[in-house]
This record gives sequence, C-alpha cells and structure tokens, in this order.
Amino acid sequence: KEHVPLQVYRRDELGELAKAISGLSTDLTRLKKERNDFLSSISHELRTPLTYVKGYAEIAQRSTISETERAAYLDIIRQEVEALTRMIQQLFDLAKLDSNQFEISRREVLLCDVIKQVVDRVTPAFEANGHKLQINCPGGIEVFIDPDRFNQVMWNVLDNARKYLSDQGTVKVEVIENVEEVCINVQDNGIGIEKEALKHLFTRFYRVEKSRSRKTGGTGLGLAIVKEIIDAHQGTISIESELGEGTFVSIKLPKY
Ligand code: ADP
Repeated sequence: KEHVPLQVYRRDELGELAKAISGLSTDLTRLKKERNDFLSSISHELRTPLTYVKGYAEIAQRSTISETERAAYLDIIRQEVEALTRMIQQLFDLAKLDSNQFEISRREVLLCDVIKQVVDRVTPAFEANGHKLQINCPGGIEVFIDPDRFNQVMWNVLDNARKYLSDQGTVKVEVIENVEEVCINVQDNGIGIEKEALKHLFTRFYRVEKSRSRKTGGTGLGLAIVKEIIDAHQGTISIESELGEGTFVSIKLPKY
C-alpha cells in the first residue's frame, strides 16, 4: 500500500489555509458571475440587431411603401447583418483569447510598414467624410510583433478615431522610437469621452453611449480585444480624453 506522509499543520497555519481556501472560493464565485454576465450580454447583444432585422424586413415586405423606402430599409438590414457578422468574429477572437488558443506568431518586422498598410486601408473611409488622417512614422524601426494581430489593433484604434470624429476631423498617428520601446500615439479631435467612462473602455461590450455606437456599428468588443493583443505582446495601452476636445490613445511596445 502506498505510504502517504501525513502533513501536520500548526494552528496558525490552519488559519492561513482556511483563509486561502475561502479566497479561492470567492474567486470561483466571481468568475462564475463574470461568465454568466458575459453570456447574458452576448445573448442580449445578438438579439438586438436580430430584432431590428426582423422589424425592418417586415416593413420592407409591405406593398404600401415606395421603392426608395424599401431600399432604405434593406440597407439598414444589410448594416445590421454586417454588425452581427463583426460581433460574431470578435466573440470568436475573445473565446480563443480566453482559452489561450489565440496564436501570436511574432517576427521581426518594420513597424511603419504595418502601420502604413492599415492607414492605406482606412484612408478612403476618412476621405469619404471629409476627414484627414496624417501619419508621422520614421522608417527603419524594427519590432518583434505579430503583424496580423498588430494590424487588427491599429485598425480598431483608427476606426474608433474615425467613427467618433466631428465634422472636418483630423486624426494624427505618430510613432516615437525610444531605447527599449516604441510609442504609437493616435490623437483625434473628435467628440471625446467623459472621465467616468474612461476606466470602462476595455470592458467587453462597454460602449460610452449605446445608441450612438449603434449608429456607428460598434460592438463594444474592439478595445477589449485590442487590450488582450497588446498584453500578449507585453505592451501597454492607455487612453486619455477630453469631452468635446478629442481622444489620445498611446500604445507602448517593447522592441524585443
Ligand atoms: P465599439 O465597437 O463600440 O467602437 P470599442 O471597444 O472599440 O467598441 O470602444 C468602446 C467605446 O469607447 C466606444 O463605444 C466609444 O463610445 C468609445 N471610444 C473608443 N474610441 C473612441 C474615440 N477615439 N473617441 C470617442 N469615443 C471612443
């Protein structure tokens, strides 16, 4: 028979043990609650666009409406379906991040090449609304990152900057190289974010103003994913903002 050594604890050690166990059980309860909250948010967030799709599809089927009205309703349906598709992709990314299956394959790349690719991709959306996107990125900065994931980060940050611009807005991207890290700063002169909201920005499904971001097709998942990707690169992201003045996003990445 296998001999199991009997561990003897002193009274004060038992107290510590009891405290540790009770701490673990509190953590478990909190995790369960977080998971339940997340699941009920998901079902709510998926149901809302579906309700819109159903409602507008019913109106679009009416024989009494004009062709112009029908086209407008169909366009809303298309936008809602696009938002749903994006949300499902983001939920998929988060699920992979949560289970550590989100692959980060880092390699040596020129940072500005990656950023310029994203800038080129989003520029038409800026120009279509009379906004400006400026970039100041000195060539030759090498970083050890996953270019596809970082592309996703930059796309999210720039798309946010664009979505919340006021008329004739400008977004400036500036890259600064320090000895051990690089800073990627994105400054916009958009509507800004109230102080109270700043600390919640990386929370899943959090949107400063739900109705406003419905119009912009936001899901409230973008920055949560951005934060996870930056964490996986051992970097940091911080957001400062002034209502009515604009928002400043600063990403710091270690160079090696
Ligand atoms: P969303 O998909 O709604 O944009 P995010 O997680 O990317 O979700 O952002 C969370 C919220 O933060 C947004 O709904 C928006 O209210 C606010 N936000 C993010 N970036 C900016 C910005 N540059 N200017 C103003 N508000 C912003």
